[in-house]
Amino acid sequence: MSKGSVEPENKEALKNFITQEIEKDLQEGKNGGAVLTRFPPEPNGYLHIGHAKSICLNFGLAQQFGGKTNLRFDDTNPVKEDVEYVDSIMEDIRWLGFEWEGEPKYASDYFDQLYEWAVMLIKKGKAYVDHQSAEEIAAQKGTPTEPGQESPYRNRTVEENLELFEKMKNGEFEEGECVLRAKIDMASPNMHLRDPLMYRIIKKEHHRTGDKWCIYPMYDFAHGQSDFIEGITHSICTLEFEVHRPLYNWFLEQIIEDMDPKPTVVPRQIEFARLNLNYTVMSKRKLLELVENNYVDGWDDPRMPTISGLRRRGYTPESIRDFADRIGVAKRDGIIDVALLEHCVRDDLNKTAPRVYAVLDPVKLIITNYPEGKVEMMVAVNNPEDESMGTREIPFSREIYIEKDDFMIDPPKKFFRLAPGKEVRLKNAYIIKCEDYKQDENGEVTEIYCTYDPDTRSGMEGSKRKVKGTLHWVSVEQSIPAEVRLYDRLFSDEDPNGHDGVDFKEFLNPDSLKIVKTARLEPNLKDVKPLDKFQFQRLGYFCVDKTSSEDNLVFNRTVPLKDTWAKMAKKK
Ligand code: ATP
Ligand code: MG
Repeated sequence: MSKGSVEPENKEALKNFITQEIEKDLQEGKNGGAVLTRFPPEPNGYLHIGHAKSICLNFGLAQQFGGKTNLRFDDTNPVKEDVEYVDSIMEDIRWLGFEWEGEPKYASDYFDQLYEWAVMLIKKGKAYVDHQSAEEIAAQKGTPTEPGQESPYRNRTVEENLELFEKMKNGEFEEGECVLRAKIDMASPNMHLRDPLMYRIIKKEHHRTGDKWCIYPMYDFAHGQSDFIEGITHSICTLEFEVHRPLYNWFLEQIIEDMDPKPTVVPRQIEFARLNLNYTVMSKRKLLELVENNYVDGWDDPRMPTISGLRRRGYTPESIRDFADRIGVAKRDGIIDVALLEHCVRDDLNKTAPRVYAVLDPVKLIITNYPEGKVEMMVAVNNPEDESMGTREIPFSREIYIEKDDFMIDPPKKFFRLAPGKEVRLKNAYIIKCEDYKQDENGEVTEIYCTYDPDTRSGMEGSKRKVKGTLHWVSVEQSIPAEVRLYDRLFSDEDPNGHDGVDFKEFLNPDSLKIVKTARLEPNLKDVKPLDKFQFQRLGYFCVDKTSSEDNLVFNRTVPLKDTWAKMAKKK
């Protein structure tokens, strides 16, 4: 894989290869001018950022060409599937801002049709029941350079196969006793054409069809036909399915051969590179492992690369769609820097998130020449990027909190924050000067004493006076408490999957969550609701957690302010 092969600048160029193909089809008058795409998730886990890319692509292409997009659950394996997943998938797609055509579809809706087609293939002498074990079948597969061996059951008569397949369907065999295979070519250079499985026995209830079936079609026997049944014009899928394409086409050729009149729409598969992100795992199996073993707080843990996790973390649909746009569509696998995703959410929240004051690790600061009991309301701009967001008032008084690390007793040269004898500006308020401080027995600073210059309030003549540092603050009495969760990347290694023989969980970042219980916020934040988003000035973007309530405010840090992506992009 080539690293960082996708630059945000050339997104148009990359996107074009699929749009060009579709344009060509339309110009040639294919499919009666229709464009129908689909998003086909398997309901065996929550959607992740890779799925978001596929969703943006499929729905985006349809929008671009005035077409439509189906949502189809590829529910061919009852063992791993669940309605919880179905519901979460629908919620996530809608949250991203897309709506599918009509009712959601299910591959299981086509089980009857698929069964009929399997019978048809048997009748054509192109499918057979094999009684060998999975191991035996695997052993006969051969290698890409050596042909496989034919199964001893390959040349059964049509009648015998029909009878046996019927028995499979009626539950007369146990799981693993036999399978239905396509009879194609055991010497094909494409391994997927070496008599692939079509049906296997699974004696488990299905979340939609109940106990109606005990044989289930393989994904490869269901996927292409489901597209065909729905009239999908362009089946966009990830690169690993390129080698399956001849098989999908073979199945469809067998079906279409007997059709009269011929169908007007035959799905065309186009492959693109799946999204890989550094510092992230994206396989649903691995994400499930993290959830089931409580390494994270559920599928929507704000550290998860799931759409629900990103949402809880404070990502917006706009930022995810922007990310999908910027990475574009490539034909070769690459790894995208997760810093780009973080850049996209910063970019969006910069425009939309109100600025507020929050002090996470407070130390008390007393302004000794400020009248006791006096409270002034200071006016602050809500978002300098957007005047229409207006202003708000923040109470200022004699006792305030500032961040502990904004004060140093013995600062190095370039420290422009507060220190004994030094001046700073309190943002939207006055210039203060540090006169003294108090320490506890461990040397920890417990109180800072300052004087203020009453002429320096914003708008006054003295406010033009320059000082090097500006600090955020909250008034002790009026500020409100909150819990703040500081998230960092879930993995501390760039490629947690890439170490042979070492489990990916070995690379979990032990510092991926830091819970801060000491935070004090400006009082304007008392009525926030889950998912409300803010910029805590100088600290980063934060989002109200789903567990937050009026008496127990909880915020998640979406991202700190420092933008490593923008920095790198500038350097290039
Ligand atoms: P996983 O490997 O995480 O289990 P999957 O491919 O099995 O993913 P599906 O539910 O089958 O998951 O995927 C639904 C659609 O999303 C498919 O069309 C698939 O190609 C696409 N998709 C899945 N992962 C990615 C990814 N990382 N980048 C782009 N598209 C993806
Ligand atoms: Mg899949």
